[in-house]
Amino acid sequence: MRVFRLEALSDNYIFLLHNSQENIAAVVDPAEAEPVFSKLVELNAELVAIFNTHHHHDHVGGNQQLMQRFPTLTVYGGAEDKGRIPGQRVFLQQGDRVSFGDRIAEVIFVPGHTRAHIAYYFPPNTAGEPGELFCGDTLFAGGCGRLFEGTPTQMVSSLEKLRSLPDNTRVWCAHEYTLKNLQFALTVDGENTDLQQRYEEVKTFRTQGKPTVPSLLGVEKHTNPFLRWEQPSLQAAAKSHDAVQTFARIRGMKDRF
Ligand code: ZN
Ligand code: FE
Repeated sequence: MRVFRLEALSDNYIFLLHNSQENIAAVVDPAEAEPVFSKLVELNAELVAIFNTHHHHDHVGGNQQLMQRFPTLTVYGGAEDKGRIPGQRVFLQQGDRVSFGDRIAEVIFVPGHTRAHIAYYFPPNTAGEPGELFCGDTLFAGGCGRLFEGTPTQMVSSLEKLRSLPDNTRVWCAHEYTLKNLQFALTVDGENTDLQQRYEEVKTFRTQGKPTVPSLLGVEKHTNPFLRWEQPSLQAAAKSHDAVQTFARIRGMKDRF
């Protein structure tokens, strides 16, 4: 399975999964249809699935047009999103499995950004392909999604599930927010040398117009303040000794950043 990163809207990424043996493709969170059509033409592949992580328009905006062109494709989304995702046919819950070509994704229920948000995790396989995590607006490179419909307690437990995946998991998040996220991260975890180094790398990347997605989960564990609620540095910045309260206060500071 190959993953292609397509740019959409102002800062969204659409991910196109391609299986070259069967000549099929799937897309994760098609914000718009046009970039997907172009890539499908280039690959000469048939679109068989849309994997939506949540109902926000910048993640489902292309569903309708893609379904018109490929009427037999299947639209997947979270069970709790029933009625909010155009064309949704499959209603997924924690632990469900969905297949694409020769890979099988595990569904992880990650409420917080929205109450219905799910992530898709393709574990590494014996052919040496790495684990792939499609986490929508839950975990970002250097950050996490805003809490629109969920509580800090829910978000911490959602992020905890993602944090437990292997370090070499590739993190495919839906927005290019990394530079701004790391600028904020330095205000709450400024002594973290891994973070300082990552910020410099990302700054160089963005100056050259290069994407910072995917990142690696191992890097997130060491540098993302929203996965580090038990670290003394973060707890000091939040003036708390409680994990959830630390997370909530850091999230609040980011909202005002
Ligand atoms: Zn969203
Ligand atoms: Fe979004």
